Amino acid sequence: MNIIFLGPQGSGKGTQAELIAEKYDFNYFEAGKIFRSISDSDNPNAAMIKKHIDRGELVPEEYTRLIAWDFISKHSKNKGFLFDGYPRSLAQYEQLQDMLAKSGQKIDWVINLEIPETESVHRLSARRTCLKCGRVYNLITNPPPTDKCECGGELMQREDDQPEAIKRRLGIYRSQTHPVFEKALTEGIGLEINGEQSIEAINKEIVSKLNLS
Ligand SMILES: [Zn+2]
Repeated sequence: MNIIFLGPQGSGKGTQAELIAEKYDFNYFEAGKIFRSISDSDNPNAAMIKKHIDRGELVPEEYTRLIAWDFISKHSKNKGFLFDGYPRSLAQYEQLQDMLAKSGQKIDWVINLEIPETESVHRLSARRTCLKCGRVYNLITNPPPTDKCECGGELMQREDDQPEAIKRRLGIYRSQTHPVFEKALTEGIGLEINGEQSIEAINKEIVSKLNLS
């Protein structure tokens, strides 16, 4: 079974994707992490990819194609793929469908973890990042032990966790990424989940609707 996880910033999509990927042993394509590690490497496209990530823009199709194909071709076809943070546009979605089709596979589910924009802004504004070790806390959902990080470092609110920057990223999500879910609905493989439930409740709903257990 191959799954895509979608959801606006702050929806908890990454948390859910990781829980499912670990428990049910998927090949986990964590785009943010994979793109960041490439942008820090000596890959010839590193600078180009870093520029897009730093600006909060989508990584262009010619690079996502290479990166996704590299991942798909190097991982076991006996396990399902779970994509988180990719595809981010209709063009990338179609690109992924084509690549999977080459090895006789398809996307089985596109899960959309939905929360209202006000909730995204509320949750992301509560993020605090440690200046020393880079660990990210959330004052609402994952508070630090004191007013400092566990490592003793000072906590700060990053520039891109300020309300204006959050709204700009949400705008990109709505206009470019959400159409992927609308397409999946027309293909009969879209599944919307209410992201305002507890982490446990969301996980339970996904496991039951996908018949994973
Ligand atoms: Zn720290």
